[in-house]
Amino acid sequence: DSRQLGVGIQHILELFEQNLRAHEEELGHIDAIAGDGDHGQGMVLGSSGAVHAGRKALERGAGARTLLVHAGTAWAESAGGTSGALWGAALTAAGGVLSDEADADPATKTRALLAAVDALQRLGGAQPGDKTMIDAAAPFAQTLEKEFNRCGDLFTSLSAAAVTAKAAAERTAELTARLGRARVLGEKSLGTPDPGAISFAMLMEALANHLGQ
Ligand code: ADP
Ligand code: MG
Ligand code: MG
Repeated sequence: DSRQLGVGIQHILELFEQNLRAHEEELGHIDAIAGDGDHGQGMVLGSSGAVHAGRKALERGAGARTLLVHAGTAWAESAGGTSGALWGAALTAAGGVLSDEADADPATKTRALLAAVDALQRLGGAQPGDKTMIDAAAPFAQTLEKEFNRCGDLFTSLSAAAVTAKAAAERTAELTARLGRARVLGEKSLGTPDPGAISFAMLMEALANHLGQ
């Protein structure tokens, strides 16, 4: 049922927080080159806020939908910053696809992931090439959708999408930033990947590995 799904989602949020804590310093260093250096800190605060909100929602008997809506709101509020607002909106949008009563089949889970990326694009307004997390998230969504339509297996599709996202995130090093804080120091960012793209790819890789267990 949806509560079981909620418990699974809560595990994923905890996994995100662990991964982000392990890479907090590294993400901060990447952001410091052309931004303000707080990306690692923002992602740790956001994910940890989401974990706390998710736990509280589960304690109150919430299903997957409510859990993700609360976790998303908490992520945005706890993180502050651009990436926090975007990740919060992504979680909330994913929750909007899920139900508080029923479990989700693989097609619904895929649609939830696609809705999350859609929210990132709509709220941030970034285009591919602007050197943001969209440079990883957009090709991730394209691969996920294409692979899922081809094989119907979430783990296979998500694994392929995570590989695509990682390669795309690394390629953002070749771009000059045009949006966000980094726009002021755009030229300086050449040769360094976008921190938001790197963290996005990292979390999708962790998610794919988790589903494979
Ligand atoms: P802040 O820029 O407020 O300090 P963070 O450092 O946490 O926030 O996040 C920076 C990341 O946010 C960038 O690396 C980029 O990936 C992402 N970002 C910034 N602006 C946008 C946008 N308009 N659309 C999508 N992602 C964006
Ligand atoms: Mg920053
Ligand atoms: Mg900042």
